[in-house]
Amino acid sequence: MNHYNVLVIGAGPAGLAAAHAAGASGLKVGIVDDNPLAGGQIWRGGPERQADRRAQSLWNALRDAPNVTFLQQTRVLYSPEPGQLRVQTAAAADTLRFGHLILATGARERLLPFPGWTLPGVTGAGGLQALAKGGYPLQGKRVVVAGSGPLLLAVAATLKLKGAHIVAIIEQAPTAAMARFALGLLATPSKIAQALRLAAQLKDVPYLHDSYVRSAHGDGTLQSVMVQRGKGRELETLQCDYLACGYGLIPNVELAQALGCATASDGAQTVVEADHWQQTSVPGIYCAGEGTGVGGVDLALVEGRIAGLSATGQIVPAQAEFGQRTRWKKFADKLARTFALRPELATLAGDDTIVCRCEDVSHGELRTHTTWRCAKLQTRCGMGPCQGRICGGATEVLYGWRPDAVRMPISPARIDTIIA
Ligand SMILES: Cc1cc2nc3c(=O)[nH]c(=O)nc-3n(C[C@H](O)[C@H](O)[C@H](O)COP(=O)(O)OP(=O)(O)OC[C@H]3O[C@@H](n4cnc5c(N)ncnc54)[C@H](O)[C@@H]3O)c2cc1C
Repeated sequence: MNHYNVLVIGAGPAGLAAAHAAGASGLKVGIVDDNPLAGGQIWRGGPERQADRRAQSLWNALRDAPNVTFLQQTRVLYSPEPGQLRVQTAAAADTLRFGHLILATGARERLLPFPGWTLPGVTGAGGLQALAKGGYPLQGKRVVVAGSGPLLLAVAATLKLKGAHIVAIIEQAPTAAMARFALGLLATPSKIAQALRLAAQLKDVPYLHDSYVRSAHGDGTLQSVMVQRGKGRELETLQCDYLACGYGLIPNVELAQALGCATASDGAQTVVEADHWQQTSVPGIYCAGEGTGVGGVDLALVEGRIAGLSATGQIVPAQAEFGQRTRWKKFADKLARTFALRPELATLAGDDTIVCRCEDVSHGELRTHTTWRCAKLQTRCGMGPCQGRICGGATEVLYGWRPDAVRMPISPARIDTIIA
């Protein structure tokens, strides 16, 4: 059984920043992540290969640090006892002991059901981006990128770079809100530079605000999507091979909940509660990055630094980061306001539209229930391999349900991992 003074879960920007800050104390630090390479969602493919200098410099420092150990392709499943985590790799299982724990488990996409969303060719927006970064061939394919949030632009830029033809970007947020957001970027010049870079990369691509995909169509596989332009305006059909569609992000809070950390509702998201030091309601357990609320890479980095410094008693340098955190939290609030989901999105699914894809449960079966728990017991919604990670985010929007307590293990586990 390995012991770490500080164990960080998640090797995205927040986890890397936390490990770097904690490692400066000389204590023994471990970083656990379930992907083959460090970097999380934004630096997928390895931090050393990113144009963002912050990724490269964190990687160089951590790779050479004798007191820091990376445990990649390792998933945390449950806590057998306080101060211990049970983890699983493709071939084995282990129990890790820790003094302090930093949760930097990131976020996932919110997918919403609409007629045709289960057709082959319909994917999450970040999902298709991840596939493309991993080598999935998209050369010459016609792709509609839809949903909400700035991630759509990053996705479209990646797919275009990989040779896809971007038919259009469909953004549900109203045009007035988008214009206010663009003006507000003046407070964060680095974001203006990023927006201008993306605009240049996507200059020939139609960017349709105040619009959303009503339905997807095709004979066995996707051929077209029907787009609603504004309220009460005409429908438009776009021919395409892929629809990459995601409605913002949902914090991954399941591990924190399973460890007893308090969570709170923050608008449409459930977030882990953390104090000034990024410490959760459980002493010695910290949380940083998207788990405390979706805010982007800059907020993830500063929260990670504060968590790593606080967990190792470096109080003064931690305090010096508070101003930056406040700045990026304001930006996160603007994001949440601008890209709040419009109510029409909750009305698209028909009675025969599947909502829980693991267990084939339709909207017609679910809409008569009053709570997540009741629907789960009566229909098996959320009881398949994804354990509600996909349909849970959809039922929050469709019916206002909050998934209840998380059971250990938080992901499907091998029998020998549990009984060893
Ligand atoms: C699909 C997707 C694509 C995105 N693409 C972009 C983009 O192109 N540009 C952009 O600006 N922003 C993008 N974002 C937003 C981006 O995630 C954040 O801005 C930032 O990366 C958050 O950093 P983080 O460290 O909090 O989380 P993440 O980067 O999400 O890192 C969390 C890490 O923890 C791991 N993890 C979670 N649970 C466990 C567990 N139980 N055991 C082991 N490991 C675990 C995850 O696999 C992941 O590697 C994307 C988000 C998503 C969901």
